[in-house]
Amino acid sequence: MKFRNFKMVNYVVFGRGSFNQLEEILSSNRKGNAPMVFLVDHFFAPGSGGEKKEFVKRIPIQGNDKLIYADVTHEPKTSYVDKIANQLKEEFGQVSGIIGIGGGSAMDLAKAVSLMMTNPGSASDYQGWDLVRNPGVYKAGIPTLSGTGAEVSRTTVLTGPTKKLGMNSDFTPFDQIVLDPELTEGVPANQRFYTGMDCYIHCIESLQGTYLNEFSKSYGEKALELCQHVFLEKAHWDEESDDQLMMASYAGGMSIAYSQVGVAHAVSYGLSYLLGTKHGIGNCIVFDKLGEFYPEGVKEFKKMVEKNKIDIPQQITKGLSDKDFDTMINVSLGMKPLWENALGRDWEKKMTREKLRRLYESL
Ligand code: NAD
Ligand code: ZN
Repeated sequence: MKFRNFKMVNYVVFGRGSFNQLEEILSSNRKGNAPMVFLVDHFFAPGSGGEKKEFVKRIPIQGNDKLIYADVTHEPKTSYVDKIANQLKEEFGQVSGIIGIGGGSAMDLAKAVSLMMTNPGSASDYQGWDLVRNPGVYKAGIPTLSGTGAEVSRTTVLTGPTKKLGMNSDFTPFDQIVLDPELTEGVPANQRFYTGMDCYIHCIESLQGTYLNEFSKSYGEKALELCQHVFLEKAHWDEESDDQLMMASYAGGMSIAYSQVGVAHAVSYGLSYLLGTKHGIGNCIVFDKLGEFYPEGVKEFKKMVEKNKIDIPQQITKGLSDKDFDTMINVSLGMKPLWENALGRDWEKKMTREKLRRLYESL
């Protein structure tokens, strides 16, 4: 048996107002005149609504630093990563670092651009496991949404010309993360729920999986408890809820880092590949129908949906062709470790193409 030697984020700062320390943190990582590049979710761009958030004025831009608003209308593509990296190389030669500020999409973009500043070719050449050859430039992640665990993971999920797959490597985790719950204040309830449920589903899939071990269990149980607290037990959303969901996201990410996700993720990858369904909402659409695999979790999820007054879209696969269903089934069954974690070594006997087709038809 070979145990995973897990590369973690180097530095973590947590707390309300910790974003104020960013300038000090970055100063020791500046390399001469090479700029720091702030890759900020376009929700915070002037005229988009989010620019009114007070922290936007506190982004510590100095000298020839550059601020790029990341278009996260669609989940990150390898072509977009290449475009930003090539543009930066042309403009500056090299940069001191890439600072990703936003949800999972902006953070994943930042990780990928950092790696593409020092690795030749296209990001699509590195979609897979341990293909990245050189460490990227310094990179920091600053979440403005809580749930994906992208702040701690060793991957960056990208859609490329032929596949949706991350750049999984020991060079991928951030050098620094800044967990400041003030940045997640006032996220619309639907978005907060969809991204928050990504974390809840990470916990259920990790805790019910065959890969479970005491490392994953300790983090998964804590994250699950925090999700239950904020989405079910508390009467109102408040500052403490933002603090707690931010730590749930972190712990949920740590839990799956040492185990694996399961059925909801494997199935939702197919939806995302064919229909462009976003990760958080896609997981919710699928999980809602997974009572057979995760009975307790799904029951509790439905309670959370009701309590938080969330709409889970229905019948999104209605009218799709046989070819479409085949595409989704192929993408999904390609996620072998996810199925093995969920259903055991003989998962192929338990999840046949016919069964998966019926599951997709029910969404
Ligand atoms: P997101 O980053 O796609 O953002 C969703 C929407 O919320 C966007 O419109 C964004 O502009 C907006 N937004 C961001 N911050 C906001 C704020 N404070 N207030 C209001 N709106 C805000 O959503 P997400 O759920 O955080 O991330 C999903 C992405 O993360 C997917 O691309 C998925 O593939 C990726 N992901 C990565 C990992 C990983 O380990 N690397 C894990 C899970 C998911
Ligand atoms: Zn997820």
